[in-house]
Amino acid sequence: MTYQRVALIGLGLIASSMAHAMRAGGLAGEIVGFAKSAETRAVALDLFCDRVTESAAEAVQGADLVVLCVPVGAMGVIAAEIGPHLKQGAVITDVGSVKQAVVDAVAPHLGPGVHFIPGHPMAGTEYSGPRSGFAALFQNRWWLLTPPEGCDAEALARLRLMIEAMGAKVDTMDVAHHDLVVAVVSHVPHAIAYTMVGVADHMRRVSQSEVIKYSAAGFRDFTRIAASDPVMWRDVFLTNKDAVLDILGRFSEELFTLQRAIRMGDGEYLHAYFTRTREIRRGIIEAGQDTAAPDFGRAVPPAKGG
Ligand code: NAP
Repeated sequence: MTYQRVALIGLGLIASSMAHAMRAGGLAGEIVGFAKSAETRAVALDLFCDRVTESAAEAVQGADLVVLCVPVGAMGVIAAEIGPHLKQGAVITDVGSVKQAVVDAVAPHLGPGVHFIPGHPMAGTEYSGPRSGFAALFQNRWWLLTPPEGCDAEALARLRLMIEAMGAKVDTMDVAHHDLVVAVVSHVPHAIAYTMVGVADHMRRVSQSEVIKYSAAGFRDFTRIAASDPVMWRDVFLTNKDAVLDILGRFSEELFTLQRAIRMGDGEYLHAYFTRTREIRRGIIEAGQDTAAPDFGRAVPPAKGG
């Protein structure tokens, strides 16, 4: 067992997956949970929490590890509420997709006797809510931690142990670098996927039913992440604005270069470009971060209608 009592604040995809993984590995003595709605709390009690409470302040009482699993924009309000109720020596972490905004919102509410170690599991699905979690979500995925300067070594080592016991691999980096890295690997790809769905939505010459019917040609795989939770992604773009705008600017320049090559019929450029990008994409498979099976290993679905 890594922690005697763990408090999860917010009980959606990430928190429920953590709870399932902790239970599977016997990593926590007791898992206490709090979420905004009574409905979510009831589901959590049924599926993965030992106890749920009526307030966040109550949930963190006596907890050795507190994990903030709410949308980034809600972290500050929660921290203000729980700050005075944290146990001396407790470790507090979060799973928010942006780090600078979370540090700015949370740190001012924490007393000197607790160890705040921000974190971000680089794992997820396009589903949300307390029923969407599963124990294997973090298997072989990276979990980034951004410990502040002077962070207590023992507190960090224990948190690391817990995360690794849930199946993830841990890397540490500073907050600003984290926000730039995730802008490249996660935030801008989501922005582009959302935009591509928006383009299809605005098209009048290709009907929506045609987009859906022929989606296996690329649209389906490319836009999977556009089904992700709107609250979470609103908060990500509101709080990682600078890094996202930096990478989106670079993306636009790259797209213009590609557009020009297509217009000019520059086959040599296109071939070289796609050869290079294919190598990078294959590297993701070699690093064990995706399957090498054709069509992501999907079984051929039964044909529906025309
Ligand atoms: P989710 O499935 O939508 O769950 C969010 C949970 O937060 C819900 O239980 C919700 O309660 C609760 N909540 C929202 N506002 C609250 C408030 N003010 N007070 C108390 N509870 C509140 O979200 P998720 O996907 O687990 O994401 C949680 C965090 O993980 C986010 O910060 C996100 O950036 C980060 N993250 C997500 C992914 C991903 O792929 N999904 C990956 C890595 C990191 P109700 O159900 O009662 O509304």
